[in-house]
Amino acid sequence: MADAALPQPLSSIVRRTPVPPTVSQPVATPLWPSVVYRATDADELDRIYEGELPGYSYAREGHPNADVLAAKIDLLEGRRKPSAPAGIVSGSGMAAVSAVVLGLLRAGDHVAAGNQLYGRSLRLVTADLPRMGFATSLFDPTDAASVEAALTPATRMILVEVVSNPTLRVADMEAIAALGAERGVPVVVDNTFTTPRMYQPLAQGADVVIHSVTKLLGGHADLTLGYTATDDPDLAAAIRTAAVTWGFAPSPFDCWLAERGLHTFEVRFDRAEANAVAVADALAGLDGVRAVLYPGRADHPDRARAEKLFGRRTGNMVSFVLDGGRPEVNAFLRGAAAIPFAPTLGDVATTISHPASSSHRALTAEAREALGMPEGFIRLSVGIEDPDLLIDEITAAVAAARIRSRSSAEPCSGS
Ligand SMILES: *Cc1c(COP(=O)(O)O)cnc(C)c1O
Repeated sequence: MADAALPQPLSSIVRRTPVPPTVSQPVATPLWPSVVYRATDADELDRIYEGELPGYSYAREGHPNADVLAAKIDLLEGRRKPSAPAGIVSGSGMAAVSAVVLGLLRAGDHVAAGNQLYGRSLRLVTADLPRMGFATSLFDPTDAASVEAALTPATRMILVEVVSNPTLRVADMEAIAALGAERGVPVVVDNTFTTPRMYQPLAQGADVVIHSVTKLLGGHADLTLGYTATDDPDLAAAIRTAAVTWGFAPSPFDCWLAERGLHTFEVRFDRAEANAVAVADALAGLDGVRAVLYPGRADHPDRARAEKLFGRRTGNMVSFVLDGGRPEVNAFLRGAAAIPFAPTLGDVATTISHPASSSHRALTAEAREALGMPEGFIRLSVGIEDPDLLIDEITAAVAAARIRSRSSAEPCSGS
């Protein structure tokens, strides 16, 4: 009697049960952790592989959560043409960089890259690519002549970030796109810092765009993903194949989290940016702060270019130079204990990083100084907190560094 109400009895606990039938549909995106997708017969599987039927086979090759996420980042990047090849989601930002490099380069190719790329990208260009036999050169992306001088007849890729980390200099994107077009060299733009809210590389003449979704797009410091896209179907196929072959598959759960986070991306970005404007101005008025670097401020060395490329957008990243050295930096970090000292960016909550002890620790103090990064250099990834609270905390931390500075300057008895 009761048995009749139950679905088909399970023949074995390990057999998968079908999804319960429902005519109503979920509003939120389901999570599909499945590694494999079953087909009805071999002909159907053939047609899925040939793209004649929609479907999936094996999660490293693609899965629904990655496709849902890619479609949303495509929209953010202004890629609205149905004919444009879909963006490719990968397991991290570095997986996206690696997929582009491994998909597009051939033996003998030369790569020209910005001299202030994200640390791991810089390592890829200066250590790993040369180890694999690729010649590489670095250029100053703010200087068109330097970019041109880095190109050789063998250059098959220009890799650049729009705003440099952590000095927040703005690349001469117009000159770089023009040089790439003139020489027939693909221009690959890492748009992580800028995000599509500030800049859309493909619409501005770049050939390939890359994101670390881990940062502002993900926005909650709880996932690691990358994204890359190009409007050229041949380049897209080559990058996708490399990502699948070298194993850069993204986790469905991370894709699900990222897609959920994207619903608030524009709201988060605008709030963080407004906070960054306020924080930059507050820092500029404080004793103990030697310089503030923010692309929205009139005193930024690339202000005119920032305005041309980004319009009224100025971003959420603020760097500044504290008077003094390591003791003052430590006093600032301890004084700002409510703000995590953590080497990432783009979280909803503000984070602080200190390049000399993290991203740029491998460089000598002189090399950092030459890049405009003395020991007192601090980078803020400004979040969406109450701005007054944030400014109070930062002001108190700068004051703590000042006190440290004065006490160490006091002459000790007997010296
Ligand atoms: C973090 C970052 C990357 C690498 O992304 P992961 O997701 O950490 O692998 C690449 N480029 C830029 C500009 C970044 O900030």
